[in-house]
Amino acid sequence: MFTVNKDYLALRGSYLFSGIASRVRDYKNSNPDKKVISLGIGDVTRPLTPVVIKALHEAVESQGQEETFKGYAPDLGYVFLRDTIAEKDFKSRGCEVESDEIFVSDGAKSDSGNIQEIFGRDNIIAVTDPVYPVYVDSNVMAGRTGEYDEKTDRWSKVIYLPCTAGNNFSPALPERTPDIIYICSPNNPTGSALSRHELQKWVDYANEHHSVIIFDAAYEAYISEEDIPHSIYECEGARTCAIEIRSFSKNAGFTGVRLGYTVVPKDLKSADGVGLYSLWKRRHGTKFNGAPYIQQWAGCAVYSEEGQKEIRENVGYYMENARLIRESLKDMGYEVYGGVNAPYIWLKTPDNMTSWEFFDVLLKKAGVVGTPGSGFGPSGEHYFRLTAFGKHEDTKEAVKRIQSI
Ligand SMILES: *Cc1c(COP(=O)(O)O)cnc(C)c1O
Repeated sequence: MFTVNKDYLALRGSYLFSGIASRVRDYKNSNPDKKVISLGIGDVTRPLTPVVIKALHEAVESQGQEETFKGYAPDLGYVFLRDTIAEKDFKSRGCEVESDEIFVSDGAKSDSGNIQEIFGRDNIIAVTDPVYPVYVDSNVMAGRTGEYDEKTDRWSKVIYLPCTAGNNFSPALPERTPDIIYICSPNNPTGSALSRHELQKWVDYANEHHSVIIFDAAYEAYISEEDIPHSIYECEGARTCAIEIRSFSKNAGFTGVRLGYTVVPKDLKSADGVGLYSLWKRRHGTKFNGAPYIQQWAGCAVYSEEGQKEIRENVGYYMENARLIRESLKDMGYEVYGGVNAPYIWLKTPDNMTSWEFFDVLLKKAGVVGTPGSGFGPSGEHYFRLTAFGKHEDTKEAVKRIQSI
């Protein structure tokens, strides 16, 4: 007789996205003629760029010409890609990251969910609040989060680091010391980003307390301001306390292609001297058989001069949407954040409405769908997320409709 992993039974249902879907369905049923515009999506809408498509073809056509192309990819990823990443993402920014500290994967979601496996079950996690839901959920699955309290929307063992307009979305250092600290900058959902000085404060804290920082830099390509670090390794001392996770999804539109990577520096060791590098290498080798050659070849093409130009154009396209939403909503009197270093606009709901009340108003009066901030954590209540990933025409139309509310 088998039993199931009881930790999985503690998981909360996907209240957020099923709640959105059912409300949109009801709206469409009663308004069959009105087009619903979604500014709720967390997925790109621009097609893959020509350089990437060409590289994908090249990779397929070269299959079989070289022996390695036919077999399993190396566990850590192909050297041509890891060398390129080390050079272009790190060394060119003055960061000390070696090619063999880069673990190529099928994306940042898997890595950010799986990385907790190498830590003790009794480790205490801290998350910025609101937050990308994968961090907490993957720790719930590992039995690390304690009891869930419906009333406060909090897990008893998780340390929440509120990020609100009150602290300019920059979390304060915690009173209780966490073992694992999740930081996502630029941030999904708040669209804010930590300055070099603010991130350095966390690196110093982690080194001092022997905590580890899991730094999610999935939105690195959207950074427009000088003072925002693109990598945590721009901070002094990060090699002894930080893991960095990156993705090709939001910069190069690989959400359906799948490619990402994680950096685990060899200097990163637990208090009793165990290197995380060898643990993650062992885990990767046992449970992952490598990202496909085709994707890795295309990922490498993203770093070419032409590839970078195309990506900047796409990012520019989305950030023009971000600017339009941000500026227009500001003019309408909304309190608006984000949208400068990230494709997310985070707004305060008017008249102290709850996130869901505002969701209903926006849907019923404007036919526009966004994401209730409370779905990302307790401190997201009374906030609302709009994304810049839509088409220009749709974004313009959505803004016009919001103006007419
Ligand atoms: C979209 C997103 C990811 C997912 O990246 P994939 O590489 O597509 O798995 C990771 N982290 C954050 C914060 C995201 O918003």
